[in-house]
Amino acid sequence: MPNILIVGSSNTDMVVQTERFPLPGETLTGGEFFLFQGGKGANQAVASARMGGTVHFLTKLGKDMFGQQTRKSLRDEGISPDLILEEEGIASGVALILVEDSGENQIVVVPGANGKLSPEDLTKAIPFLETADLLLCQLETPIPTVEALAQLARKFEKRLILNPAPAQALPESLYQNLFLITPNETEASLLSGIALEKESSLSEIGDWFLSKGVQNIILTLGEKGAYFHNSSRQFLIPSQKVKAIDTTGAGDVFNGTLVVALAEGMDWEKAIQTANRAAAISVTRMGAQPSIPFRSEVYGKQ
Ligand code: ATP
Repeated sequence: MPNILIVGSSNTDMVVQTERFPLPGETLTGGEFFLFQGGKGANQAVASARMGGTVHFLTKLGKDMFGQQTRKSLRDEGISPDLILEEEGIASGVALILVEDSGENQIVVVPGANGKLSPEDLTKAIPFLETADLLLCQLETPIPTVEALAQLARKFEKRLILNPAPAQALPESLYQNLFLITPNETEASLLSGIALEKESSLSEIGDWFLSKGVQNIILTLGEKGAYFHNSSRQFLIPSQKVKAIDTTGAGDVFNGTLVVALAEGMDWEKAIQTANRAAAISVTRMGAQPSIPFRSEVYGKQ
């Protein structure tokens, strides 16, 4: 089983269904209430674990009820508890989500302990980093921590994948230490400043990331699939045709699956096909973490 080190966020999503959003100062009686485990880091860690990876996940929780629940849920997924840290005096990350009957939503994300995952915390991950086949991170934890991880990856000659979500400006030096970057269309345009208007924009964006020093680029294109770009090859792998019900977390499933496939030694085509297949299964089911497929489902469909 490949060894994967993932560094990122954990959240608890609190979802309330409501007929309409309350006006300022108004109290409404809501409909149903749901509590889901979430956060891009945790979603990707769960996807990797369900694909059969041995996952070490560096994340930070508060010492509260939500933190305890997250810890238990990650343990139930078979994710190692060694790097699940806790900090006193701060709440675990939460997202408050109102979903109107019309389908519109309003979301407030409170990073809480995720915002306290520091470059110093990475020292605890070094023993696992040394044995990891691949590293994966996102941008829901502080940028200096992501930068420090990239430097460690270079020092220990480890391949680091960055899923640059949510999109935000990145330090130039970070790009040079990336084996692979996996933006979606919005993130790719925002980072590169190149609008995705025509087919040639894909290779323009790919070249832009290469010029920054990234070795490989995969642009995820929703129902269109995923586009691969490096200095020697460029190609598009179309997605699986499915009836999508809920695409929340599709990108997380893609990344969590891809990292295991690459760590197992698959070539780019096979790894992207596998990640497309896992993500396509996930969009046919509701929720982010509940919809993440297991290895047997992904390979059963081949
Ligand atoms: P999200 O923010 O919803 O988690 P994302 O914007 O990060 O997703 P996308 O590019 O939308 O990422 O999707 C990631 C991958 O999921 C795609 O490359 C594709 O493989 C798969 N996917 C997404 N939407 C669909 C769909 N409607 N049908 C089939 N596959 C899909």
